[in-house]
Amino acid sequence: MCYHCAMTLLASAAAAPAPLVDPHGRRVSYLRLSVTDRCDFRCSYCMPENVAFLPKRDVLSLEELDAVARAFVRLGVSKLRITGGEPLVRRNVLSLFQSLGGLVGSGLRELTLTTNGSQLGRLAVPLYGAGVRRVNVSLDTLDPGRFGRLTRTGHLQPVLDGLAAAKAARLKVKINAVVIKDFNEDELLDLVRWCGARDFDITFIEVMPLGELTPGVRLSQYLSLAEVRRRLGEHLSLVPADKDTGGPSRYYFCEETGGNVGFIAPMTGNFCDNCNRVRVTCTGTLYPCLGQNTARSLRDIVRADPTADSPELEAAIRGAVARKPKGHDFALHHALAGAADEVAVSRSMNTTGG
Ligand code: SAM
Ligand code: SF4
Repeated sequence: MCYHCAMTLLASAAAAPAPLVDPHGRRVSYLRLSVTDRCDFRCSYCMPENVAFLPKRDVLSLEELDAVARAFVRLGVSKLRITGGEPLVRRNVLSLFQSLGGLVGSGLRELTLTTNGSQLGRLAVPLYGAGVRRVNVSLDTLDPGRFGRLTRTGHLQPVLDGLAAAKAARLKVKINAVVIKDFNEDELLDLVRWCGARDFDITFIEVMPLGELTPGVRLSQYLSLAEVRRRLGEHLSLVPADKDTGGPSRYYFCEETGGNVGFIAPMTGNFCDNCNRVRVTCTGTLYPCLGQNTARSLRDIVRADPTADSPELEAAIRGAVARKPKGHDFALHHALAGAADEVAVSRSMNTTGG
């Protein structure tokens, strides 16, 4: 390396802001950014059927969301997941992917999204073009009738078509399936095999006590993933995989299908020690922990100065990370111990972004 290049490298290293590290020594490297609270589905575990969405003026513009995401990348975030609500129903959302996709390889390691899949038929190819390589698609049942009842407004076939389009576009797909007692527990083995046949990974998720609940409902839907793993293990060889995402997932390699099977057990799993993530809602509220109410609004700051290197924005982000709780406390164990069903945090998943 010549002297000039070495000096330039040194200067840029000196200018790079310090990474985000919380008081418990955990480095924040993963941002989940919700771009809308709106959705074309009304999944019963996620939002009420007659949900009132936020007034548009409260929601950050695509340019403001872009500035927030860039600010995090500047501060060392290397993985960015776009979520919602349903991120792909937001008008012109592709322009946000195209803009942020430009950061992949220079600071950003991965740009990805979580979607219900309904719009993938038309968007899979442009998403790949924007730099997305992996998508998480939520699919809890392969039965059209059950799918309709669960999502209330959704239809299974467009999602299946969207998944086929994603595969054809060379997007790596992971299916997320929420396990619901007495609803889809008889389909879980089929789901694993169905995913294996398509080269999709699958992750099972415990129902979480978020949002408004009718007393007793969420608890009655709860089935522990330890039990799910035990049942699947009667039919499949699940070998623990050496894969730490810094998140709540535990992965197994399924010898029969050749795919990975993950389990996200926020209720019973202990995973906060390695937590590397924070969330920003579509209104610009930064939540350092999904299961706690600690929060910091970035909205007025980014509206006053919608640039990624705004010192006020950086200070607000650092201030919130400095208050990242040591761990979540969904407290379902109280409910499981016999107390009333509990809501750990009052916001719905579509507000915080799943
Ligand atoms: N609309 C997109 C989707 O459904 O994938 C992204 C947003 S959604 C809120 C993100 C994830 O949260 C989905 O996988 C959904 O199944 C999950 N989810 C929503 N409410 C939940 C709850 N109460 N417990 C567990 N998972 C939940
Ligand atoms: Fe929409 Fe996703 Fe919530 Fe279902 S889980 S209502 S698809 S945001």
